[in-house]
Amino acid sequence: MSSVFRKEEMDFTKLPVYAQRNFVPARADLLDVKEVLALYAKLEERVIGSAKELERWLLDRSELEAALSQVGSILYIRMTCQTDDKDIAGAYTKFIETVSPAIKPVNDRLNHKYLALAKQFPLDRNRYEVHDRAIRMDVDLFVEANVPLQTKVELLSQDYQTVSGAMTVNFEGQEQTLPQMGKYLLETDRALREKAWRATAERRLKDKDKFEEIFGELFTLRNAIARNAGAKNFTEYQFKSYHRFDYTPDDCKRYHETVEQFIVPLNGMIAQQRREEMKLKNLRPWDGAVDPLGRKPLKPFEKAEQLIAGTQTIFNKVDPQLGREFKEMQDLNLLDLANRKGKAPGGYQNTLSEARKPFIFMNAVGVDDDIRTLLHEGGHAFHALASAADPLLDYRHAPMEFCEVASMAMELIGGRYINTFYSEEDTKRSNREHLEGIIQVLAWVANIDAFQHWLYEHPQHSADERRQAWLGFYEQFGGKFIDWTDLTEVKAYLWHRQLHIFEVPFYYIEYGIAQLGALQVWRNAKKDPKKALADYRRGLALGGSRPLPELYKAAGIKFDFSEGIIRPLMEAVTEEWQKLV
Ligand SMILES: [Zn+2]
Repeated sequence: MSSVFRKEEMDFTKLPVYAQRNFVPARADLLDVKEVLALYAKLEERVIGSAKELERWLLDRSELEAALSQVGSILYIRMTCQTDDKDIAGAYTKFIETVSPAIKPVNDRLNHKYLALAKQFPLDRNRYEVHDRAIRMDVDLFVEANVPLQTKVELLSQDYQTVSGAMTVNFEGQEQTLPQMGKYLLETDRALREKAWRATAERRLKDKDKFEEIFGELFTLRNAIARNAGAKNFTEYQFKSYHRFDYTPDDCKRYHETVEQFIVPLNGMIAQQRREEMKLKNLRPWDGAVDPLGRKPLKPFEKAEQLIAGTQTIFNKVDPQLGREFKEMQDLNLLDLANRKGKAPGGYQNTLSEARKPFIFMNAVGVDDDIRTLLHEGGHAFHALASAADPLLDYRHAPMEFCEVASMAMELIGGRYINTFYSEEDTKRSNREHLEGIIQVLAWVANIDAFQHWLYEHPQHSADERRQAWLGFYEQFGGKFIDWTDLTEVKAYLWHRQLHIFEVPFYYIEYGIAQLGALQVWRNAKKDPKKALADYRRGLALGGSRPLPELYKAAGIKFDFSEGIIRPLMEAVTEEWQKLV
C-alpha cells in the first residue's frame, strides 16, 4: 500500500478558525524564542486588579499555550509523515530544543503569580478546583536544580531509542528490523517461527549490558530528582508529577493482587485453549501470535480508502453525530492513514489545540489491527471534539486514565459492527483476538507496574536482585503458562523491551485502569446502546474539567479498579469469549 506525501496538505492554515485571538498577535512568529518570551513577559508583567481581570489573564495564557502547542503539533505531524526530510526534522528538533526549555522557568513564575493572585481575587471554586490543584502541585515540585538532571534523563531516553532502533538481524537473506521480524510470528510454519524468534531474542541479548547501563544511570538520576524535590522516593515524586490526585500506590498494589486472582487464571484458560487447538504439549514463546487453527492472517481491506469507508460505516452505526465528525475529518485532511516509505512507525491522535481539531496518523497495511487502531484513535479524536468548547486549554484534555477510556471503549463498541469488513467467521475471529488481547494486556500492565513499584521502593538494589525480582513478577502474572526451557536468559531481560520503564516511568497502569472503564462502557452498551453512548459522550464533553471519579461517573461507569469491579467484568468477558471459541 502506498500513497504520496503532499506537503501542502500538512499545512493546516486553511482549517476553520475556532475563536478569534484576543492576546497573541495574528502575525506572531511562535518559532522565534524571543517573540515567545516577549509574550510571556507581557503576561508576567500585567497588573491585575480584579477577579475578572485574573480570569481574562488565565484565558490569555491559555490562548498562548494553545497556539504554541499547535505549532509544536504541526511540526511533529510533518516530521512523522516524512521522517526522511532533514529540514522538517530539523524544524521540530529546533522547537523542542529552544522554545520548550525556555518557557519552563517562566511557566513556574506564572504559576506562582497566579496562586498569589487567586488568594487576593478568589475565582469560582467549583470551576477552577481541578486547574488549581494541578498548578499547586507543579509549583510544589519545581526545583531549578532538577532542570539539568531532567535534560540528562531526556538524552538517556534518546539513547534507549537509538540502541533499540539500531538493532537488526540478517534473516532469510536480508537485513531486517525487529518490528519487521514480528511478521514471522504469524507464520503457520512452527520451525520458521522459532528460528525468527530466536534470532530476534539473541540480537536483543547482545545489547543487554547497554540497556542495563542506560537504566542504571536513569535510575540514579531519578532518585536524585526525587530527593531534590523533597519527595520520600521517586514513586511519590512521579505520582505527583503525573497529577495522580485520585489514587495511590496502594491502590495500584490492590490492582496487582486482584489481577493475580481474577485475570491471570483467564490467561491460563486462553493458553490452554490455544495449546489444544494447536495440538501442542507446551506453548513456547513463538506460539502466541499465530492463528491457533492455522488460518492465514485476516485481510480486511486493500487500500486506505477502503479502511476509511468501512470505518465511516461503523461510526455511522455507532452514532450519527460521531459519523458526521469523522466525515468532517476527512474533508479537512485530518487523516494520514496509509503506510508508506519515510513515514514514522505506529499510530497516534494529536490535537491541533488552537483550531481545536484532531489529527489521526497511522500506518495501515491491510491487517485486522489497522481497524482497531483507527477505532481507537477515532475515540481520541471524538474526545478532542467533544471537549473543544471549553475556553481553558487545560480543560480541553482529560488525564490519560480517562483518555484511554474514550479510545478503548470505541474499539469495543465499534467492534460490534466490524462485520462491515468481515464474513461471520472472520468477525468472530477478530473479536476473539481482540478480547484475548485485552485480557493479556490487563495482566501485563500489572506485571510492568508491580516491577516498577519494586524498583523504586528498593533504591539500593543490585542488578542481580533486579533480575530476580523481574523473574518473580513475570511468573506471578502469567509467564508460567509458557514453556521457557533453555531460555531463562531471554526471560530475565524481557522488560528491556518495555520502553515505558526507560522513558516514562510508572506510566502504564493508566492502560489497565482505563481498560476496565472501557469494558464497563462495553457492558453498558450491551444492555442499552443508546444510553451507553449518550453517557459516553457526556463524559467526553467534560474534558479535564473535573476529577477522574466524576469523569467516569458522567460516562456511566465507576472509577474503581478493585475486586468489586474486576470480578463481574471478567465474568462478562469470559462469557463473551466462550461464544467466540
Ligand atoms: Zn490511546
